[in-house]
This record gives sequence, structure tokens and C-alpha cells, in this order.
Amino acid sequence: MKTINVTVWNEFRHEKTDPACKSVYPDGLHATIKAFLDVNEDMNVRLAALDDPDQGLPDEVLESTDVLIWWGHMAHHEVSDALAEKIRQRVYLGKMGFIALHSAHKSKPFRSIVGTTGNLSWGREQKEIVWTLLPSHPIAAGIPDHFLLPKEELYSEPFYIPQPDELIFCGWFEDGHVMRAGATFHTGAGKVFYFQPGHETCHAYHDANVQRIITNAVRWVQPNEFGYPIKDECPQITWKTVDEFNK
Ligand code: ZN
Repeated sequence: MKTINVTVWNEFRHEKTDPACKSVYPDGLHATIKAFLDVNEDMNVRLAALDDPDQGLPDEVLESTDVLIWWGHMAHHEVSDALAEKIRQRVYLGKMGFIALHSAHKSKPFRSIVGTTGNLSWGREQKEIVWTLLPSHPIAAGIPDHFLLPKEELYSEPFYIPQPDELIFCGWFEDGHVMRAGATFHTGAGKVFYFQPGHETCHAYHDANVQRIITNAVRWVQPNEFGYPIKDECPQITWKTVDEFNK
């Protein structure tokens, strides 16, 4: 069985400063994600955090990562442009899959990989129903037609992403808003999954369906076996271009 090397990267700041977050994720939400992934024999899971040396991803870690899971929120701007570019290139070249969780919609790696701002609207914590739109997709395996998250931060359309290659889940919120909650993107030779639930003071990563979705996604975004060499060519982007999106 092929082992998938997974790195769960977390900004890991809220857990240190916000008691409401610490009570839900005492060791960091990345540790909770690692714990449910660790039960899978085909996964070797490591943790990384923004305040670790080299922002948690020195070259030897990044280059031995098959799937990178990313959670960030308050410190997106602290992530170095150079690191974001290394991640984008690795995904584009099909060397690593990328899973962006919740507020990673605004992270440098996600924005640079998909090429849009990732802007959306947000609001109070409330009831969310996650609907499965594409039950045939491997990421939806074992997931019911819908499931309830009793409390999750409102995220709402319009969500400024490219038209997803596959739209697997939709979130409905008590206030009447909807959100493309689970979407895939193919970029170059790589695969990306965005999944919306996961606010730092809510319990999404303790939910069995959310855990199954992230587990499924790890297997789906992992690099393919290519029957031919992938050329190390990746078009450059500049952060000036990305920053202009925000004006
Ligand atoms: Zn949030």
C-alpha cells in the first residue's frame, strides 16, 4: 500500500490567545485533524505551524509532502510570498495535492493556486446544513445526502473563486445564505479541494462527516502516478497582481 505523506499546516494563533478556541481545540485544530487522519494505515501525518522554523515548511518537509492541508486566518499576510510560490508550483506540477480549509479561502497559497481573491461574505455563528450535490464523487463517499453542523460561522456567496471543476457540497445557513462549501479545482497536473466548515470556535473537525470528507479528500488530491515525465515548468505569477484584486 502506498503511504500518503500528509502535512497539516495550521497558523496556530487563535488556539494560543482565544479561550473559546482553546476549549474546542486544546492542542490546536491541526492536532485534531491529525488525530482522525492517523487511524488510516495509508497515511503518515505530520504537523506544521506558522511559528515553526521556516514557517513550518522547510524544503525537506515540503518536498516530502504528498498532500498539504492548510488552515490560516489572522496571519495570512505573514506567510512569505516565496513559500506560497513554492506551494503553488508543487501543486501545479502535480507533486502535491492541496486542501484549503475554511478561512484558507483567503490564504496566499489558495489564492495563488486558483488565481482569484477568494473573497466572500461572512456573519454570525449559526446552524449549517451541508448538502451533498455530487454523491458519485470519491470525496462524498460515505456522506449522507445532508448533515447538520449545529454551529458554524456563516460563509456566503458570492465566493470569488473560478468556476469549480466539481461542486460536491453546498452549505445552507439558518439566516438563508448559501455557500459553495466543497469544491475541486484541477490546476496544471495537480488537484485542489476547498472545504468551508471549520471556524476556530466551532466543532466541525470533531464531526464524523467532516472527518470523513477530509479523509476522502486526502486520498483524492494525492498526486497521480504519471506515465510520462512532467516538465518542471510553471508560469510565474506576481503578488502585485494578486494584491490588485483587493483594491
Ligand atoms: Zn472562521
